[in-house]
Amino acid sequence: MLWKKYLIDLTCPSLKENQTIDTLIIGGGIAGLSTLYFLNKSNVFLVEAKTVGSGVTLGTTGKITYLQQDILYKLLTKNGNLAINYLKSQKDAIKLIKEIVKRENIACDLEQSNSLLLTNKVNDLEKIDKIYQFLKSQKVRVKYTEYQKLYGIMVNDTYTFNPIKFINYLKIKLQDKIYENTKIVNIKKVKKDYVCETDKGFTIKAKKVIITCQYPFFLKPLWLPASSTIEKSSIVVVKEKTNPHLNYITYSKPILSYRTYEDGDNIYGIYLSCSHNPTFKENDKSNQNKVIKAFNLTEKDIVYSWTNMDIMMGDNLPLIGKVDNNLYIATGFNTWGMTNGVLSGKIIYEEINNNKVMYDNIFNPGRIKKYQKFYKSFTTNLIAFIKGIKPNKKWYDSVIINNNVGIVKVKEKSYYVKTICPHLKCPLVFNEVDKTWDCPCHSSRFTYDGKWLKGPSKENITLKK
Ligand SMILES: Cc1cc2nc3c(=O)[nH]c(=O)nc-3n(C[C@H](O)[C@H](O)[C@H](O)COP(=O)(O)OP(=O)(O)OC[C@H]3O[C@@H](n4cnc5c(N)ncnc54)[C@H](O)[C@@H]3O)c2cc1C
Repeated sequence: MLWKKYLIDLTCPSLKENQTIDTLIIGGGIAGLSTLYFLNKSNVFLVEAKTVGSGVTLGTTGKITYLQQDILYKLLTKNGNLAINYLKSQKDAIKLIKEIVKRENIACDLEQSNSLLLTNKVNDLEKIDKIYQFLKSQKVRVKYTEYQKLYGIMVNDTYTFNPIKFINYLKIKLQDKIYENTKIVNIKKVKKDYVCETDKGFTIKAKKVIITCQYPFFLKPLWLPASSTIEKSSIVVVKEKTNPHLNYITYSKPILSYRTYEDGDNIYGIYLSCSHNPTFKENDKSNQNKVIKAFNLTEKDIVYSWTNMDIMMGDNLPLIGKVDNNLYIATGFNTWGMTNGVLSGKIIYEEINNNKVMYDNIFNPGRIKKYQKFYKSFTTNLIAFIKGIKPNKKWYDSVIINNNVGIVKVKEKSYYVKTICPHLKCPLVFNEVDKTWDCPCHSSRFTYDGKWLKGPSKENITLKK
């Protein structure tokens, strides 16, 4: 992963005793760190299961934009006010990121970058035109554009940055309030407090808890497996000779997304495609090749490549705010967590301190009960569970799966894992690009030798042999 080399060499201590505190933030990605930044008071702490910035944020493309593929169109077709409020929220988020970077003087390569929304399909042009008319009505400076035989619209008050340099700054500033390598495995309400149990056996008792761990490890009250889907994408990075100082995304699938990142003499082109709801027939290697082909990169040296998964909400809006008395959540960013992650910190800060609930009408997690549906991932999961569908293994060469046991051979050594996800029993798929075991239903990920990496699973899948 491109951003991995920027992770700072600083480890915060893990929790070594029971604690009683005022506020606990669970998860050290962009949402958790931003929340800690805004709430920075003496009795507020953050726990991170692994190390800060090692989650989904590490695999982002780091665009800071409101031209977010088809979201504005989808909201417009439902209700014009939804689109107006969402646009306002994203513009506020961009302003917020700029203010934080300026105030704290954060060297995170924040760069103005024109955002383009493009297509080569006639049907999409009509929809993009609706977004154009809408943006005009909201006094956004938008114009029609053409780029590399794709057509669409362009705005210029948008940005790109290095998300890990941004997070590093917050980590250094707030390090006294962070516990790393401390995973929360259970949250219990005891009278008015929350008792959070960690994987090391210690507990943190807190008056308020804010969950920013991306895919939560509990089912109730949000029932995310039934109300959201997963989107997985493949990213390929090559070195470029020139920097066009723009970013683009295509309107409909197959998504083509692009941005550059300049670091000293190196200009990196970050290419993303193959965005899809994963299945048990995942073939990440072949998806990586599709990205290379789609962008005509066959002659170029691939310097980095990876896959990443985010949560997609059925109504295209994130979940930010209160889920219970003194229990808050920020997740479901629909692959737009740079703006929404930072904004969630501000929203939760305001709600806790001033009782002012920003964007409650669009982001309130309570709305989930109203639109709860059984999405494709849930059905896929259920069918797999009942019928015992096995992952497609034709394309593996160093991996064997037999009776739900996976054997990965690395340099003559064999590693044994259980290929059923401990979370909700989905069969796991081996990801040849990242060398991980991935759950296509709910995005849990494990190292090739079975250690938990990401997602809602509370356990490892390692088998002793
Ligand atoms: C391919 C791809 C490209 C993207 N590109 C963009 C983009 O260009 N612009 C944009 O705005 N957004 C983008 N996104 C979306 C964005 O990257 C994510 O929405 C965002 O990074 C999520 O941040 P987070 O803080 O919620 O989650 P994370 O970064 O995953 O942070 C959550 C943290 O919680 C920790 N954790 C998990 N469980 C526990 C537990 N039980 N106890 C303690 N800690 C725990 C994890 O280890 C992790 O560090 C993209 C997403 C994808 C998949």
